[in-house]
Amino acid sequence: MQSPFSDRAETRQAIIDACLAMQAAGVNQGVSGNISMRTKTGMLITPSGIDYEKMRPDMLVLIPLDGSPMAEGQMKPSSEWQFHRDILLAKPGEMAVVHAHPVYCTALAMNHQPIPACHYMVAAFGGDDVPVADYALFGTQDLSNVVVRALEHRSACLMANHGAVVTGDTLARALWRMIELETLAKGYVTALSIGTPKILNAKQMNEAKKAFSDYGLKTR
Ligand SMILES: [Zn+2]
Repeated sequence: MQSPFSDRAETRQAIIDACLAMQAAGVNQGVSGNISMRTKTGMLITPSGIDYEKMRPDMLVLIPLDGSPMAEGQMKPSSEWQFHRDILLAKPGEMAVVHAHPVYCTALAMNHQPIPACHYMVAAFGGDDVPVADYALFGTQDLSNVVVRALEHRSACLMANHGAVVTGDTLARALWRMIELETLAKGYVTALSIGTPKILNAKQMNEAKKAFSDYGLKTR
């Protein structure tokens, strides 16, 4: 799908604003999170190791999606640029990717525990669970491969011993998903601490998925 977004200052500023919103919502700590957006000519991604408060539109990095080399004179992209690129290549309908290490998502990811259908909001991520991508070292093609596999039928996954990643057909939708995912993870971890969460059955989850699509929310 052709991206409706051009590489303009407003698009770049929207990514910085989303980083700041992620920080304000408490789903990101420090500079571990990163955000990318598909543009008409490639993808824009946050630079490596820059505080969001100090990030300016010209610091964002434009990376071609067709394998051609990156233009010179740009900042170093986020060390996780490979999985951002590969997710956008694998999911032509998705326009944005958000990655972070939110505490509750990461706690579950440390245990390699997926989030089961313990709440109808799980359906907002495309299936009956939020899976965990296998462990691979940060910043590697191996990590990209396992993340792309975990996201095949989902718009979110946890990343073993690492964090979480979500996608969206808009940047706002991806940001919303990351915040909802952490809220869900927090609820699930809390429920596990006081008892045994009851799991919704396939029929109940199908109804939830249909309800989401009826009000225009693409579930994956
Ligand atoms: Zn990370």
